[in-house]
Amino acid sequence: MTLYPINAGNFKLDGGAMFGVVPKSIWNRTNPADANNMIDIASRCLLIEDGNRLILIDNGMGNKQSDKFFGYYHMWGNFSLDSSLKQYGFHRDDITDVFLTHLHFDHCGGSIQWNKDKTGYETAFKNAHFWTNENHWQWATQPNRREKASFLKENILPMEESGQLKFTALPEHDMLKNSALGFDIFFANGHTEKQMIPIIKYQDKTIAFMADLLPTVGHLPLPYVMGYDTRPLLTMDEKEKFLNMAADNNLYLFLEHDAHNEIITLQHTEKGVRLKNTFKTQDIFN
Ligand SMILES: [Zn+2]
Repeated sequence: MTLYPINAGNFKLDGGAMFGVVPKSIWNRTNPADANNMIDIASRCLLIEDGNRLILIDNGMGNKQSDKFFGYYHMWGNFSLDSSLKQYGFHRDDITDVFLTHLHFDHCGGSIQWNKDKTGYETAFKNAHFWTNENHWQWATQPNRREKASFLKENILPMEESGQLKFTALPEHDMLKNSALGFDIFFANGHTEKQMIPIIKYQDKTIAFMADLLPTVGHLPLPYVMGYDTRPLLTMDEKEKFLNMAADNNLYLFLEHDAHNEIITLQHTEKGVRLKNTFKTQDIFN
């Protein structure tokens, strides 16, 4: 198995929204805000090459939205999904599976593109299955008023219309061992219904793709929960469980959204679970 980080484009989000009830005087130390109160955010996706399979986990916002839409997100840096794939000798048509942690636009928007004459949409990975789970699919396709602006129909429905949609099994409790993708999956319900956190065995290491369960290093303290989370008390419980497990078992946490920390390990301290080490992906993926 070989792993590759795929940067699908950096953007910015409102620092206050990213830290919920935490005051700016505190979060600004770990995630410094610009003049508009925006903080740096990455779309660091993960490509897994495993035998005949080429699995992409999440794929950023894509590029089909309007200039007005992108105006809210202040894209920065020179990365794109295609250039990142190309860097390792891959093309999007090589991808066999697109695994989506959840269907918020900044995680799945790259799945769908305009068709040739811009009259409609088509999937952007023509040879891939798109993986979500049945509960999250229901949640995303009949969205509540709170999350409606994050579940964009055009990002979601074409996966089903193309016949490329697949559902993973659901766990009895919160951990699905040996999913159809080969890796284990931790299911978390605090951010949204049945977000999926892949846990991948790689050489002698275990790597967890943290998605929105731990967006940045600044979110390590348990009460530092995003304002976007639909069930913040549950996020605190899920983070407590997961971060303890990560510290106990020396998990390597791959951070999708942290623009400055790619992979981290954790340790127990008097204050709770905190950062132990940070790594560049190339130090771990060799
Ligand atoms: Zn999300």
